[in-house]
Amino acid sequence: MRVGVLALQGAFIEHEKILKNLGCETIQVRKKEHLKNIDGLIIPGGESTTIAKLMNEFNLTDPIKHLAEQGMPIFGTCAGLIVIAKEIVNSNQPRLGLMNISVRRNAYGRQVDSFETDLQIKGLGQEPFRAVFIRAPYIESVDEGVEVLATVDEKIVFAREKNFMVTAFHPELTDDNRVHKSFVDLCNKFHNSVDNPQ
Ligand code: GLN
Repeated sequence: MRVGVLALQGAFIEHEKILKNLGCETIQVRKKEHLKNIDGLIIPGGESTTIAKLMNEFNLTDPIKHLAEQGMPIFGTCAGLIVIAKEIVNSNQPRLGLMNISVRRNAYGRQVDSFETDLQIKGLGQEPFRAVFIRAPYIESVDEGVEVLATVDEKIVFAREKNFMVTAFHPELTDDNRVHKSFVDLCNKFHNSVDNPQ
């Protein structure tokens, strides 16, 4: 299993650590050659405008979209969630625009820049997940086909659609690897599927 982590800006090292602990090989993606033979891609937290701009500059946007259409799993955390969304409220910033969600950036306001909370996540068992939010977005609305996996005060913070999954929080900043494990499971399915072009 080989999982790429987009490494243009933001918190990519922490994702690599968790993936390695789960037994995956990882590769830092900065050029389109790095997308070869990967079974999935993580787009980390950071600054969504910067990440999307650099993706364009490094000619990564179209190759990533192409792999996404072939079913390659993509997991976006925080800024990564924003980059994957089709709609960003009050913004026309560049994006991949893959997932049928509408997101609001910096949605919790200045007073609560960062916070932690225990989340109940669908499909991950009874044990709550300690979720770290940093200048986080939330998902304001979802279209058909999107499964909501967790909410905080009725705001959607974890969702999945086909081969895409997104969290508004940072699961790479805790020792709990269950969210990454569920992504690696998706990558495994893709690895073994006939659609895998690699
Ligand atoms: N506020 C950032 C943005 O809008 C996201 C913050 C994060 O990734 N921790 O891009």
